[in-house]
Amino acid sequence: MSDLSGRVALVTGASTGIGRAIAIELARRGARVAINYPFERERENAEETRRLALAAAAEGAALRERQRPSGSVPGEGSAVAVGSEPGDVCSLVRADVTREAEIEAMFEQVGSSCGTIDILINNAGIQIEEPASHETTAEHFDAVLDVNLRGTFLCAREFITQALDASGGVILNVSSVHQKIPRPHYLSYAVSKYGVQAITETLALEYADRGIRVVAIAPGATRTPIQSWLHDEKATQVVESHIPMKRIAEPEEIARMAAFLVSDDARYVTGQTLFADGGLTLYADFQEPWS
Ligand code: NAD
Repeated sequence: MSDLSGRVALVTGASTGIGRAIAIELARRGARVAINYPFERERENAEETRRLALAAAAEGAALRERQRPSGSVPGEGSAVAVGSEPGDVCSLVRADVTREAEIEAMFEQVGSSCGTIDILINNAGIQIEEPASHETTAEHFDAVLDVNLRGTFLCAREFITQALDASGGVILNVSSVHQKIPRPHYLSYAVSKYGVQAITETLALEYADRGIRVVAIAPGATRTPIQSWLHDEKATQVVESHIPMKRIAEPEEIARMAAFLVSDDARYVTGQTLFADGGLTLYADFQEPWS
């Protein structure tokens, strides 16, 4: 398990779903985690993320303590280090990632309560289904791009500005298989995620020689509130039948890959997107011979 002791991470959209799972996993690995949520109505969910992250942090700290070579003291080598005390791992920070002023305030707040941010997880995202692409309203199109693409850019920009003054850092963008697979009825979503790929690769190249890595994870269908079909057993079966592994992902499976990518175990990786999709991008229709 990659050790993130002493790191400070900010996870956007962490009150539910994949963001929550990533916040919990980073806390388990010793990071001090700031949990972002957008609106007051999400506060309770964000509190629940914090509660779960604190429990995971305590479990992780106990595990690292058991694995510590006898005779060594906490803080030495791979042992428990600063920032891994369960008491101070997590803070909540409200900000809408479409609003520049709120993002600036969020970074300031996290910086002063947790310390310099080493890891940014750009996870916040929405999707809107349309009857057809030619019937998509400009308002809906803009709303999705605003959160998924512009929000990713704005948070990355703020993070990089600070990371250049610090000792670098890592950005992980939560993209989607739809940065590769076209998605009828969800044009804005596909556009946003193709755009996230451009952000990942362009920023990775631009800042590679200044200690900043930029990577992405592209989940396939994952069990979170964004998927309306989850409440419909039949619809879920249809989705699963299209996935080579024949099941959807659990958010924790995505979170473990995210934690690996932001850790030093992946320190020579930048500009890459890791597809965690049960084989969905492998031309699933070719799984069985056609004739
Ligand atoms: P989710 O709805 O549980 O999470 C999305 C989160 O984004 C929510 O917590 C929400 O409060 C937050 N959010 C929305 N607007 C925001 C804003 N303006 N500012 C800050 N936060 C905001 O769904 P999820 O599946 O966990 O989605 C997380 C990410 O994973 C998204 O980027 C999504 O595109 C991506 N993703 C999800 C799946 C899937 O099948 N669940 C697959 C591929 C990619």
